[in-house]
Amino acid sequence: MNFNIDLHSHTIASSHAYSTIGEYVAFAKSKGIVMFANTDHGPAVPDGAHRWHFGNLKVVPHIFDNVAVLRGIEANILESGQIDMDVPILNQLDIVLAGLHPNLTPTDSDTHTKLLIKVIKSGLVDVISHPGDIRYPYDEQAFLECAKENNVAIEINSSSDVNSRFNSKERCIRIGRMAAKIGNIISIGSDAHICHYLGNFENAIDTLEKAGIKEEQIINRSAKSVLDFLSSRGHSNLQDIKNHFGL
Ligand SMILES: [Zn+2]
Ligand SMILES: [Zn+2]
Repeated sequence: MNFNIDLHSHTIASSHAYSTIGEYVAFAKSKGIVMFANTDHGPAVPDGAHRWHFGNLKVVPHIFDNVAVLRGIEANILESGQIDMDVPILNQLDIVLAGLHPNLTPTDSDTHTKLLIKVIKSGLVDVISHPGDIRYPYDEQAFLECAKENNVAIEINSSSDVNSRFNSKERCIRIGRMAAKIGNIISIGSDAHICHYLGNFENAIDTLEKAGIKEEQIINRSAKSVLDFLSSRGHSNLQDIKNHFGL
């Protein structure tokens, strides 16, 4: 498997990341990455971007030096089961990831399961990021079935157990195996915090292969499948990117 689209990356707008969007574009171009999603952290974590960052993302060209850039967010799941961004801003974005992050003190499996199901059913989130984080146990079967029913993608994160969320690999593979059986939609993200990691899917591909996930489940397999998925999720401001890819 070989993918040239990355759906998870952080710029210096997240203070623990180290590259600008221009540096990402230049690196993407040099590596043949045709599209990537800029998904900085929502404001509920201390290193997250201010809400104005997301409100103003429209100034970032969708086609930036011949690379397609999706304007996104990696939102934080709150104790209330909501995410840390308001609907008018979410509606302007091209892709919304949400994950369990340190703003949320881990409690118990039942609580985490309810939170994830509430987030999935909100209709506001396209991808659940790094669901294999071992700090947050939950009912994996119920979570995956709910995601499948609600057309929400599950991420295989190439940084998990490499750059962060250590000791999560086994759980990532187990969730991947279950997702392969259930037929979940899969999104792959490098979760790059510096441009040089963009498109680094070595760990993600290893997980995908061990889990037996089929290529047709993976939205990153082509620009068309990414854009079809995002359109099916109600993102309608993608015509210039579709034109760029002749779609
Ligand atoms: Zn994250
Ligand atoms: Zn991230």
